[in-house]
Amino acid sequence: MTDAPSHLFYQSRNPRPFLDRGEGIYLFDETGKRYIDGSSGAMVSNIGHSNPRVLTAMKAQMDKATFGYRLHFRTEPAEALAARTAAMMPDGLDRVFFVSGGSEAVESAVKLARQYALTQGEPQRWKVISRFPSYHGCTLGALALTGYAPLADPFAPMLQEMPRIPAPTTYLDRDNLTEEQRGLKYAETLRDRILTEGPETVLAFIMEPVGGASTGALVAPDSYYGRIREICDTFGILLIYDEVMTGAGRTGRFLAAEHWGITPDIVALSKGFGAGYAPLGATVAGSRIVEPILDAGGFLHGFTYAGNPLACAAGLAVLDELETRGLIANAAAMGALLQARLTVLMERYPFIGDVRGKGLLLAFELVSDRETMAPLPKGLNAHSELVEIAYARGLILYSRRTRGGIEGDHFLVCPPLIVTSAQIDEIMEILTDSLDAFAARFGLETAA
Ligand code: PMP
Repeated sequence: MTDAPSHLFYQSRNPRPFLDRGEGIYLFDETGKRYIDGSSGAMVSNIGHSNPRVLTAMKAQMDKATFGYRLHFRTEPAEALAARTAAMMPDGLDRVFFVSGGSEAVESAVKLARQYALTQGEPQRWKVISRFPSYHGCTLGALALTGYAPLADPFAPMLQEMPRIPAPTTYLDRDNLTEEQRGLKYAETLRDRILTEGPETVLAFIMEPVGGASTGALVAPDSYYGRIREICDTFGILLIYDEVMTGAGRTGRFLAAEHWGITPDIVALSKGFGAGYAPLGATVAGSRIVEPILDAGGFLHGFTYAGNPLACAAGLAVLDELETRGLIANAAAMGALLQARLTVLMERYPFIGDVRGKGLLLAFELVSDRETMAPLPKGLNAHSELVEIAYARGLILYSRRTRGGIEGDHFLVCPPLIVTSAQIDEIMEILTDSLDAFAARFGLETAA
């Protein structure tokens, strides 16, 4: 089967084994080899694989209807999921627009913001400030906001140029500031940029509350979040939280925004929201924003598959599972445990420069010098080498090489939110074995 020529193509030629089945935090390939899904795919499979509650709900919906076009019918699963989602959001975020993925959720957030500005008589507002590095999706609109050069650069002439501010990579800073001062310093770059652009031209600021694919579980100092909210309010700029990766419980709260008591104006959700059972996402905003748009004739935007009953039935069962099994609290508890265990690895491996994250959105970063945070040489290809070493041993990690002005290799360790402490032991055992093999292959010193 594996050797047959394939008509499929992805980013690169890198054939993987055929997936046979999934069960909880484990995946099995066609040979029966077991893998721990240590990254929940791409931080998607939050409730693990083959969840009986979700499968039962989907089968029941399949027997009724798998598709009803939203302009022809309302459906019970879509209404119920919208109500449930709104109930789980901070007060004021009560209106839900369904999509099929993260890039669509971000595009929809930005277009919603734009139409809102038009209803407010502010057609000159169109610029969306984002951070560098960042990841907001790979469709052309979302890519224009994505601060990740390898994916964006080839398409540069086709992308609307948008202003950027630096992501708060404080772990790289070597200054005498306190964490609080550092947070404020980075937040002020937003204010400066708004003033440079002309505040009346700026529509929105978009950020990942905990950085994901591009920055590796980057958490800003607490002071950052409130100050960013204040700055947006001062200039009448909408604050969009891209919670595609952080949302639906991944960081130990339903939204990461809750950690800092922030209510964004618009939130993008996907990944853990459908949890791999259906292509599903949502853009959530307040009636304050949505009602004027509906009064003015409606949102000029929409995707064919949006709100389809099968995906929404899956999403509803995912939220049921999160709530009835207390999985968000488990993410907080197991996240703290896993983060502590990863931090201990720094004693044995001097080439781990940083461990960071929140809940079960965790990462470690490899360096050649912990003092200066100088990265490992690019030629080592550490981000893919370590992933392959771990994969061979049955542990799936997610990695990237990038950050701020200089480059580095970070690895996301993000198992499903159902993970137990015994399973964290298993993850740590394979990870330690993999780091030993990695160190031996590249002649890196260990303290063992
Ligand atoms: N925003 C964030 C924060 C993401 O992590 C991602 C996916 N990595 C996206 C948007 C895009 O989501 P999708 O790949 O589903 O379009």
